[in-house]
Amino acid sequence: MRQFKTESKKLLDLMINSIYTNKEIFLRELISNASDAVDKLNFKSLSDENVQLGDDDLAIRVSFDKDARTLTISDNGIGMTAEELERNLGTIAHSGSQEFKAENAESQGDAVDIIGQFGVGFYSAFMVAKHVRVVSRAFGSDEANVWESDGLEGYTIEPGERAGHGTDIILTLRDNEPGQNGEPGEDYNRYLSEWGLKDLIKRYSNYVRYPIQMMVTKSRQKPKPEDAGDDYQPEYEDYQELETVNSMTPIWKKHSSDVEQSDYNEFYKATFHDFEDPARTISFHAEGTLEYDALLFVPGRAPFDLYSRDYEKGLALYSSNVLIMEKCADLLPDYYNFVRGVVDSADVSLNISRETLQHDRQLRAIARRVEKKITSELEDMRDYDRETYEKFFENFGRGLKYGIYSSYGMKADELADLLLFYSAREKKMVTLAEYAKAMPAGQKAIYYAAGDDRERLSKMPVVTGVLARGYDVLLLTSDIDEFTFQAMREYVARDMPKVYEDDAAREAAEKAQADGAEPELEDRHLELKNVATGDLDLATEDEKKDAEEATKENADLFTSMKDALGDKVEKVAVSARLVGEGDAPACITTEGPLSLEMEKVLQRGPEGDMENLPKTQRVLELNAKHPVFAKLAAAQKDGDAKKVELYAGILYDQALLVEGILPEDPVAFAARVCELM
Ligand code: ADP
Repeated sequence: MRQFKTESKKLLDLMINSIYTNKEIFLRELISNASDAVDKLNFKSLSDENVQLGDDDLAIRVSFDKDARTLTISDNGIGMTAEELERNLGTIAHSGSQEFKAENAESQGDAVDIIGQFGVGFYSAFMVAKHVRVVSRAFGSDEANVWESDGLEGYTIEPGERAGHGTDIILTLRDNEPGQNGEPGEDYNRYLSEWGLKDLIKRYSNYVRYPIQMMVTKSRQKPKPEDAGDDYQPEYEDYQELETVNSMTPIWKKHSSDVEQSDYNEFYKATFHDFEDPARTISFHAEGTLEYDALLFVPGRAPFDLYSRDYEKGLALYSSNVLIMEKCADLLPDYYNFVRGVVDSADVSLNISRETLQHDRQLRAIARRVEKKITSELEDMRDYDRETYEKFFENFGRGLKYGIYSSYGMKADELADLLLFYSAREKKMVTLAEYAKAMPAGQKAIYYAAGDDRERLSKMPVVTGVLARGYDVLLLTSDIDEFTFQAMREYVARDMPKVYEDDAAREAAEKAQADGAEPELEDRHLELKNVATGDLDLATEDEKKDAEEATKENADLFTSMKDALGDKVEKVAVSARLVGEGDAPACITTEGPLSLEMEKVLQRGPEGDMENLPKTQRVLELNAKHPVFAKLAAAQKDGDAKKVELYAGILYDQALLVEGILPEDPVAFAARVCELM
């Protein structure tokens, strides 16, 4: 017996004692080898005119014998000579055995990585087989040879018999292993069943270019005997038929103009278990240093578990029509986790493991391109099929926003233009770019209000105040919206008409334009401003002056009210937002980064530790033109501290109610209202 090399033995041992949990992939590996062998012969026939082959002759055949517990994978490919059997199957990872030694010294126990680097290949057979027999006859040779091993110590090579060129790999499968400690056992018997094998072939090797054939049992009705009477019952018999199990031509290899959308839809639904057609099908082919085909789908609706922890993103990764991984997560960024599809590249190494994948440069290059492509397709849908896009955004917009939020705004460049928000003025969903385009010349910020109800928001005094000044307000109703805006801080509106700060420059530009020059454009950095926080700086000079005067005149009143409200507010002030008699008497705004709405969201959150949540810094703003204000001022003048306290409490709670926040002490609120009545 010839001995395996020492390092091979170690590797084999690692593999058999199963670092690789996914044992079933052995079939994919052996079929891939067979397909390669057929490929080599096919290539020879194309490049050497002495080799004549009928195209139909080339095939891979899978068969099994339940009683003998054998599974056989045969091909009529190029085959191997005795020397080739020795060289190819005698040394595991023979090209890399030196490196294996070095690696192994460094990464003791990091078995999965070793497998990933050298590939399981042929030896994966030992994960399921206790004995492997390889009968091979090289093309053009009259002799066959038999390689045999039980995978432990070594192997033998003897002369043998085979009709025609090619290779049979005959596995004697291990016995079923019962489960232990609640872990499921290993079921090797499924590799000895028609359905088990068909399932694996369809799953992993469906798109291998050569037919993978299996003898299958079918049933048919026996012919009716001539002398059959009236009470004849049809009889059935089993018969065997050779069936091609794989589909051979992958749909993603076809040019999209040659495929009907309905075929894509069928493929999508069957492969990804959806009932609905996809909202978008994206098919592309990359050429150059890295060649691959990609077929991607944007689903028509969100899968029920999209936002759950169990949801697994990823694209199926094929190499030369062989499935390497069902869900390769590294091919998709988290915010496009809803995209389903396939990437097929001959340039990606077949024996890649999850662990090494992340470091694969080629894969990263593909992922970048895939991401760009998805982005541009979504942009296209946004611009030319708005209805579908709005539905898409309802389904998956949250993920896009989360992408900006979780990257601390770093992904805003890519994602901000995909977002839609409800415009209070337009009464429909708009993009930030559309909002910016519709701004009047002097507007410097994008205004928004956040809350959970569009109707209520649109009636809030802080919103109507800004609208009345001619500025649109975006109404944000999803709990993640404002956090996303905070992560973005600003939106850069591209190609906006240039705003001239000094008059001379503006006049010069106007003159130039009158003479036929193109208007100058610029990128404008627009702050994202909550209409209910901080100073919006919207008031006219006159309004500001009025507010300042009113504040000065009523300094005593504000101090008394602040004393009455205590910690609930930072201060009480005259409002520059509420300026008309018809506006609300008061509103609550906040200073600092936290808005009322964000505070609400945080309180709903899973933290549970309400004590330590950040708190808003609230300001009670009063409308100095409102009759209520005159009443307050009069009470203060009369020295009626009780009345000032009563009014302060009611105004504060009522302003909170408008914000959709219950008064902290509803009983006290009700009592105050009664007192007033
Ligand atoms: P890999 O396929 O990654 O090179 P394997 O361990 O799977 O590594 O196979 C080693 C080599 O054995 C292959 O490169 C090929 O030359 C040879 N081989 C394996 N299976 C076959 C086959 N069915 N027919 C011909 N050659 C084969």
